[in-house]
Amino acid sequence: MKTIGLLGGMSWESTLGYYRAINEGVKQNLGGLHSAKIALYSVDFEPIERLQHKGDWEGTARILSEAAQSVQSAGADFLLICTNTMHKVASQIERAIKIPVLHIADATAEVLVHKGIKKVGLLGTAFTMEQDFYKGRLSDKYGVEVLIPNKEARQIVHKIIYQELCHGKFEVDSKTEYLRIIDLLATQGAEAVILGCTEIGLLVNQEDTRVTLLDTTAIHAEKAVAVALEEWDFNSAID
Ligand code: GLU
Repeated sequence: MKTIGLLGGMSWESTLGYYRAINEGVKQNLGGLHSAKIALYSVDFEPIERLQHKGDWEGTARILSEAAQSVQSAGADFLLICTNTMHKVASQIERAIKIPVLHIADATAEVLVHKGIKKVGLLGTAFTMEQDFYKGRLSDKYGVEVLIPNKEARQIVHKIIYQELCHGKFEVDSKTEYLRIIDLLATQGAEAVILGCTEIGLLVNQEDTRVTLLDTTAIHAEKAVAVALEEWDFNSAID
């Protein structure tokens, strides 16, 4: 079994989900007392969140690259950046280490391709919904059309992530708002909606809606288990 490197703490609420899902996955596959080999570096999120909102992405890249080097030194065979948003600096992190990064958008896109989904809605932070590092990867590399909510809805989704979900607050009204926005995306033609922020799955899940949801935390964790158990060859899947 390979050692899974996790760059977590963004927020720690969602890193807990990764830790649980990866261990559950290994247990399901291997049984007995098997558990995942994990090297986790959990950052202090507050300074990173400040840099994000100041637009200092190079600053975030420096912190995360150093943390990724620690994960590598701890013996990880590959790395998961446990947040969609911080994939904005995935290439800088990749350059700082020798082990491969298992990109969250690639793991998600593989599910879309497998399900034959051509048009998908995307929920996440404003950075993820509005900038190109995520949407662009889905459309350019996989030919998937990405729909995002309107400006007002994007502000609601973003605010709930930073003011509630990352603090471990899960409010009924916020869930209602998210489900309304998910329905809107479906009405506009989305065949499924990506929960493109690792905390959203803590607020809404598949039982809440008829619209197909793709929870990036669950998908990323499942892919990590497959790679760790060598059912998937990293090198042949990466170009
Ligand atoms: N965990 C979130 C994500 O998946 C947001 C927190 C962050 O800015 O990293 O995008």
